[in-house]
Amino acid sequence: MRLVPQLIVRIGADMRLAMILLFASLTVVSVIPFAIFRALQGDWVAAAVDTLMVLTMLGNAAFAWVTGRTLLAGSINAVVVSATCAVLPGVLGMTGLFWIYTVLLANFMLAPRWLAVSCGLLITIGALLTAPFPNAVAATAFVVSTALVMLYAFIFASLTEYQRQRLVGLATRDPLTGVANRRSMEVELAEVLRTHHAQAQPAALAVVDLDHFKRINDLHGHDAGDRVLQAFAQLVEHCIRKRDRLFRFGGEEFVLLFPATDRDGARAALEKVQRELRGNLAGPDGPVTVSIGAAMLEPGDDWPAWLSRADQALYLAKRSGRDQVRFDDPRPSPGERRLQLVATQGGH
Ligand code: GH3
Ligand code: MG
Ligand code: MG
Repeated sequence: MRLVPQLIVRIGADMRLAMILLFASLTVVSVIPFAIFRALQGDWVAAAVDTLMVLTMLGNAAFAWVTGRTLLAGSINAVVVSATCAVLPGVLGMTGLFWIYTVLLANFMLAPRWLAVSCGLLITIGALLTAPFPNAVAATAFVVSTALVMLYAFIFASLTEYQRQRLVGLATRDPLTGVANRRSMEVELAEVLRTHHAQAQPAALAVVDLDHFKRINDLHGHDAGDRVLQAFAQLVEHCIRKRDRLFRFGGEEFVLLFPATDRDGARAALEKVQRELRGNLAGPDGPVTVSIGAAMLEPGDDWPAWLSRADQALYLAKRSGRDQVRFDDPRPSPGERRLQLVATQGGH
């Protein structure tokens, strides 16, 4: 991808990276003229401090861009710039205080809140010790104003983080069952494919479909169906490993992802899921069964192809009487091959 489209995609997806790049650009534009001016005046210490600040911001921005470790880069930024700010009034006199408020605010956008508060205290104490305040009233006004800026920034950052987490939850979770939705499935499958292909690791994918689910809705209403879907999600989440993922694909169809798992491991995990559901999943008329189609990740697979093979295996499970697990077999029997052909042509 070319640089500008890549820049737009990446800063759209990562607010902290956007902030790091923005602050680096602003620092370059706003501090370099001061560094040149001070060097021309022969004020080498101030020029060196300014240059150090610019180089740190640029180096950090490059680090964040290349590694994607934006929390670390943002934290380094906050610490280095705050340390510089703490000694700035000692170098520049009272003029050095003007920059402090910008840095106090910026820290909350770059670093975790606890670090932003610690850096704020460092700056305030450093400035108190080094700035030539004319009297105690001026020093007190400085301390109170920095404390208020930090308090407002802390509240704002906390609210923003809370709302961000809520939005992420709304965008990635299915509201009925609470499990990850199809949107997160697409993102996570693409990610798993990238790492597993690169490391030649096995992975399994299963499509789980509740059997004769429409009957529950038709006979007992939509709410009864909803309760079965919720119970299903709870039972499955309870019996899979932490790294395995359950997604609601749509309707009464779910997708299970087993990263770093070979065929035997996936078979064992799916049998465990079947056992758990057989013993515990029930609707108003008694037990509710599920059919499962599974497929191993094959070299060259993209996620739609992988999912489609699991879906074909699900079709076989349905056609073979439901309430069973079927794996997509690279070498199917002639009967199964006929069924697979029908599945590819007609869907289910
Ligand atoms: P099969 O064994 O072949 O899978 O039969 P089925 O009845 O489960 O299959 P079908 O796909 O015909 O029915 C799925 C039903 O799931 C139809 C739809 O009304 C219902 N459904 C989809 N989403 C929801 C939901 O969020 N809540 C409820 N209660 N029902 C839903
Ligand atoms: Mg069904
Ligand atoms: Mg279905």
